[in-house]
Amino acid sequence: MAKRKYEKHFLSNPLIKGDDVKYRIVCQGSKTGFDGLMKNYWLRWNCITKPRSMGDPHTHDFDEIFHFFGADASDISDFQAVVEFSMGEEGEIYTFDKPTIVYVPAGLKHAPINIKVVKKPIIFMNVANAPSFVMNVDGKPFIPKDIKP
Ligand SMILES: [Zn+2]
Repeated sequence: MAKRKYEKHFLSNPLIKGDDVKYRIVCQGSKTGFDGLMKNYWLRWNCITKPRSMGDPHTHDFDEIFHFFGADASDISDFQAVVEFSMGEEGEIYTFDKPTIVYVPAGLKHAPINIKVVKKPIIFMNVANAPSFVMNVDGKPFIPKDIKP
């Protein structure tokens, strides 16, 4: 049976079971779904239920945008967590306890991201305009295991 015209525009059930989170979504335009339609898009979506630290200090050749908000769909402003976000060569720490979006331009060193307190689950989502998520750590390309689709 022939596929419908726009069938490849839909990615059904993208949830991945995790050992550190119950489910995550990793959508890498060049490799996961969409049949190569959207090459410069990468997304990771996690429901964070307990404190954790993510990422060694790194850079990459693409912009990255981080989103933090409450996981209760009836009130995403209900953010009961504390996040420390390291920015720049200096490792300057920014601490927030409200829904926050962080823009990291290409080439700016960032991380680790320490989610210090989680009283209620939060959503942590990062998006990049890149075909795949390759970080530069100490001058070497690196892909962490939890961001592979
Ligand atoms: Zn990054």
